[in-house]
Amino acid sequence: MSKLALLGGEKAVKTSPLPPEMTKWPIINKEMEDNVLDVLRRGAMSGSDVTKKFEDEYAKWHGMKYAVGANNGTAALQCAYYGAGIGVGDEVICPSITYWASCLSLYSLGATVVFADIDATTLCLDPKDFERKITKKTKAVIVVHYIGYPAEMDAILAIAKKHKVKVIEDASHAHGSLYKGKIVGSFGDASGFSLMSGKAFAIGEAGIMLTDDREIYERAITFGFYERHKELTIDYLKAGKGIPWGGYKYRMHQMSAAVGLAQLKKYGAETAEIDKAMNFFWDRLYGVPGIHAHRPVKGSGSTMGGWYNARGLYRKEEIDGLSISRFCEALRAEGFPSHPGCNKALHVHPLFNTIDVYGHGKPTRIVNNDKSVIQPIGSLPVAEGLQSKVFSIPWFKKFNEKILVEYADAVKKVVDNHKELLKDDKGDQDEAGGWGLTFKF
Ligand SMILES: *Cc1c(COP(=O)(O)O)cnc(C)c1O
Repeated sequence: MSKLALLGGEKAVKTSPLPPEMTKWPIINKEMEDNVLDVLRRGAMSGSDVTKKFEDEYAKWHGMKYAVGANNGTAALQCAYYGAGIGVGDEVICPSITYWASCLSLYSLGATVVFADIDATTLCLDPKDFERKITKKTKAVIVVHYIGYPAEMDAILAIAKKHKVKVIEDASHAHGSLYKGKIVGSFGDASGFSLMSGKAFAIGEAGIMLTDDREIYERAITFGFYERHKELTIDYLKAGKGIPWGGYKYRMHQMSAAVGLAQLKKYGAETAEIDKAMNFFWDRLYGVPGIHAHRPVKGSGSTMGGWYNARGLYRKEEIDGLSISRFCEALRAEGFPSHPGCNKALHVHPLFNTIDVYGHGKPTRIVNNDKSVIQPIGSLPVAEGLQSKVFSIPWFKKFNEKILVEYADAVKKVVDNHKELLKDDKGDQDEAGGWGLTFKF
């Protein structure tokens, strides 16, 4: 047992920071550059020919009939909500641990969100709590495949069917993740994906909605894509064509679509490499107390896709109660960048409690619903306690055994020597997570 770097010993990680080829993302190739230049030179930035091709390919990849390319994931999701018929007075259930864009646009539709707790192992919607949160007003559930982990679709779909609740997947973290062999984003009535540059499928500011339901598709087009109203076939929608019903314009930029067409060809190979690297890292840490991989059981047919923003699960009770703050501090000293936490529970943010966005004279959350939808602190314990139970790990884009061994062994070293860290442990610090994930507030 070598001495911890935090206490004056040598660093476990020799290759820190990671070389750029192990972290660089997205990987830009010649075909992407050529595709973008072609759009630019043709002056086709606001057109739709490239986007149409991209939509067709993306839909085919998911085995879905219809796709709508949007200018970002937030818009794609709002279109899915409008498409599914969500409107005034409706309640929509969403896990409290996610990025705000999973649910906040519900306000603009006159609907509200009811948060459900997550499962401590999957970090996705807890099916039992989903069922508990269903009321007469529940119209839909938003299923987030959180940081790549496919949510428990069998249970969720069965509950949704029983209560006639629509299912909309937010697959922004999980492009290409499989649930029991089937790709996420293909389970619900509709699904939405962010394709912005920070995500696993990163093509610039862009998003996409998928559905097999012609009415959802046409309603999405009606809402934010006036230039596509010629596609409308449903009478009540055709009656209002020419002007977007939402008053929004959500067209995808064709330079993003151009990048996307090239990315579709190489995403599978790139994420297979990520999967190999991340799984190697976690395999090496198997059995280390306090530390658990956040990934589905091997052989289940479920996968983590591109491992977007991966986290490790931390269980301090297995290592004498060492705080996660102290643990991450020791990891960082070893040359392993890590911080506690992830997205903070949304239901505790003022926007979901007190803030009046539109001037109704009461919190927007309850404008079209009664006060009972407000969820006080203490109501979703797993989500609220999560910040001290997860820690960030590097997002390895390339398999390099020597380097991965250094990083995994740094974690082992900290755990092996954890008793030496207990003495000066000041407990969990309020440093974890944030509502934006990328930016800390
Ligand atoms: C990024 C993200 C979105 C929003 O996508 P944008 O492209 O940034 O608008 C929605 N949901 C989740 C879970 C996200 O992480």
